[in-house]
Amino acid sequence: MNTLRVGHVEILALSDGMLEFDLCNFFPTIPEGEWEPYEAHLHAHKVRFNLGSYVIRADGRTILVDTGLGPRPADTPDAPWGELLRDFTARGVRPEDVDMVVMTHLHRDHVGWNLTADGPRWVPTFPNARYWVSRGDWEACHRPDLQPQRYPNAPTCVWPLADLGLVEFMDGEHSLTRGLTTVPTPGHTPGHMSILVTSGGEQALVLGDAAHSPVQLEQPDWVSRADMDPDLTRRTRRALLDRLEREKITVAAGHFPAPGFGRIVRLQGRRYWQGL
Ligand SMILES: [Zn+2]
Repeated sequence: MNTLRVGHVEILALSDGMLEFDLCNFFPTIPEGEWEPYEAHLHAHKVRFNLGSYVIRADGRTILVDTGLGPRPADTPDAPWGELLRDFTARGVRPEDVDMVVMTHLHRDHVGWNLTADGPRWVPTFPNARYWVSRGDWEACHRPDLQPQRYPNAPTCVWPLADLGLVEFMDGEHSLTRGLTTVPTPGHTPGHMSILVTSGGEQALVLGDAAHSPVQLEQPDWVSRADMDPDLTRRTRRALLDRLEREKITVAAGHFPAPGFGRIVRLQGRRYWQGL
């Protein structure tokens, strides 16, 4: 099921491919033995992340949330990513249909297709879109102490958006359209945003990287090396999971197994991910 309906809104799941990491690399503080009960979520002792983007059709607009890791570099032709535009074609969506690009945060696997090189210039890959970034991440990706490690492709995929006059800022709970509101979920990055979709009495949340794996529903304190502020990540995730469960909000989780649509269910006092 690649499309989720939320009242009058349609959320289409797309993917730029996937990334795989050794457990000790991506979750360096979690002893490998603690993964034993979660073997079913692993692929040969590795964690595998879908590089999910979502195309939301709401209020007469076409909104792309996150733009993947970007084109495959020439020196790694076998990289398992770089698929987003191909997936656009496969799903019958044209880049020129997109009129808003919204980034949950500015890490490299969420901004990769923002721009396309045209000789020495950068042009927007989505030519009719304006690009929404959180002010917190915009500032963080310009900090010399953070940028090289945390936002390595900002100079090519993010900063030029300002020169092109395409940047829109979002701060706090920001209304993107009538049915789409940003929900600040800081910790993974300073300005991380999830996107709440509300329509016809139904709700769904595009999670961003407030969680990377369904295992984190059961182990909300497991943080990864990508979480910039571990303590804030934990607090945010716990509060968000409480809300998602309490309000029965459907979730679109870009790094969970594709298409990443699911709900939180509770069995014998524990939370689980139930994919749709
Ligand atoms: Zn990510």
